[in-house]
Amino acid sequence: MSTPATQTPEVLRIVERCEALFEDLHFNAVKQWKAAAPGRKAIGYMPVYVPREIIHAAGMLPVGILGGGDQLEVIQGDAYYQSYICRIPRSTIELGLTGRLDSLDGMLFPSICDVIRNLSGVWQLLFKDKYVRYVDVPQNYQDSIGGKFYVEEMQHIRDDLGKLRGAPITDAELNASIVVYNENRRLIEELYAYRAAQPWQAPTSEVYLLLRAGMVLPVEEHNTLLREYLAAARAFERPRRDNARVVVNGSFCEQPPLALIKSVEMAGCYIVDDDFMLVTRWLQGEVPTDGDPLQELSKA
Ligand code: SF4
Repeated sequence: MSTPATQTPEVLRIVERCEALFEDLHFNAVKQWKAAAPGRKAIGYMPVYVPREIIHAAGMLPVGILGGGDQLEVIQGDAYYQSYICRIPRSTIELGLTGRLDSLDGMLFPSICDVIRNLSGVWQLLFKDKYVRYVDVPQNYQDSIGGKFYVEEMQHIRDDLGKLRGAPITDAELNASIVVYNENRRLIEELYAYRAAQPWQAPTSEVYLLLRAGMVLPVEEHNTLLREYLAAARAFERPRRDNARVVVNGSFCEQPPLALIKSVEMAGCYIVDDDFMLVTRWLQGEVPTDGDPLQELSKA
């Protein structure tokens, strides 16, 4: 007796494409995007969150860097951090020192911990020809104190990237970028709600790969991919099992190996919520697109 099909060719096509992007530690998708038009620039960023709208508004490609995962042997990176330090900074250094991040014109290091702050300094020493910025965040959430500080911080990035491209970034460009990222957030929210309601239709091993694709694809292309996946997943009923519904929490910036997600699912669990890839869901709800864009991003 044949086993029931669990994926349509369209779902399979999308997932295989995402998996190829996920496994490519040479970031060929970024190289191809840059090669498609002269003068294009790509800016990497570490987890958990940076305002990607500013990079996009500069006409640059934001590229999420999440270390080398379980596919990269860390050799040189171990010389820069103590061996008990988490893997993401050591494997990111390994990516940099082995030339895998050469397609990036700059890197943003958000203030998530001392390790990443120190990595921004290491990066400045190692890659003197690249743009590097440590992105500080406020500890105070009042608009007049922390909000003001954060707007100024974003303004620094805006000024820097404007210089890098040779023209200031306008409010209209920023608002247009907020529009496409609002759509990205809305689609991911829809995908997460769909998975929570019918996890057999959108396994987390697929959802995770879809989110990872958003780290290297232009956001417009990622939005199309998310729409295509949702349509393809809804078009076909997959077998429903009597699995346990679980929530996986606590990964923060270090990402789980894909095999771990698959193992949890194969062990009889439906992952109905997670905190992977927080950059895609850090802001909740629509960011207004008709005001001062940095003010609106700071309040979101
Ligand atoms: S926040 Fe991330 S980079 Fe920093 S110590 Fe934790 S796992 Fe490592």
